[in-house]
Amino acid sequence: MLKSLQGKTVIVTGASRGIGKGIARRFGEAGLNVLVVSRSQADADGVAAEIGPNCAGFAADVSTPEGAEAMVRAAVERFGGVDILCANAGIFPAAKLGEMTPADFDHVISTNLKSTFLSVSAVLPEMTRKGEGWIVITSSITGPVTGYPGWSHYGASKAGQLGFMRTAAIELAPKGITVNAVLPGNIFTEGLEGMGADYIASMESSIPLKRLGTAADIANAALFFASQEAAYITGQTITVDGGQILPESPGALAAM
Ligand code: NAP
Repeated sequence: MLKSLQGKTVIVTGASRGIGKGIARRFGEAGLNVLVVSRSQADADGVAAEIGPNCAGFAADVSTPEGAEAMVRAAVERFGGVDILCANAGIFPAAKLGEMTPADFDHVISTNLKSTFLSVSAVLPEMTRKGEGWIVITSSITGPVTGYPGWSHYGASKAGQLGFMRTAAIELAPKGITVNAVLPGNIFTEGLEGMGADYIASMESSIPLKRLGTAADIANAALFFASQEAAYITGQTITVDGGQILPESPGALAAM
């Protein structure tokens, strides 16, 4: 049982659906004030309404400094400060090398990696004022550990988040701010629902625990990183993937 985080405030970027929605819901259940951020105000408001009165929606494009700064101002105005940032917003359009344009590459790096820098930069004044803060980045197994055709830009952005994290953790330690990352494997989100049972089954077959992850699985790891119990952990990663990265070959799975 983690010590209470009741009354603290978390900003969750990319929280209108998928993993971010699961993180927002979990932190809301734990009694925190939650700012749900996405580019769509209506979608962010919808999630906030589901979570409850301690939650508000805010529309911002976190790949821009203006968007990141506006979301922090909104959290301060609504809840009086920011204790925790979950930098989760991300996109994963596929494009293989030879087809991928420089604009495709820039778009993914800007949305996934630059947004992490911008969101962290935007919360810094508030966390510095408080003398404490918790930053949890949603990275991925793709990039830091594995590869997948069509996702060279995505993998670069997700590995880049970890490079950013390690130096940020050192720089921000004197301010009492920790920076850690969760690496999800294949998570069952709304985006996967339409892919069909065969596709889901083939994904599950490559995972030793034989199921896809849930947004709640990721949210629990994020909540741990934001807890007092994780106070002495910074610059670290938790892989939440049902053991997906472990088999050294398809034969290892077949031999289970
Ligand atoms: P998702 O369902 O597509 O949700 C993405 C969220 O990010 C939405 O709320 C979206 O809302 C928001 N968003 C996108 N661009 C934004 C921007 N520029 N500014 C603000 N919000 C923005 O994605 P997901 O699957 O939950 O993935 C969430 C994170 O987990 C990503 O960082 C992804 O790389 C990582 N991840 C996912 C998986 C997986 O299996 N799903 C695995 C590993 C890692 P709007 O479009 O309205 O802005």
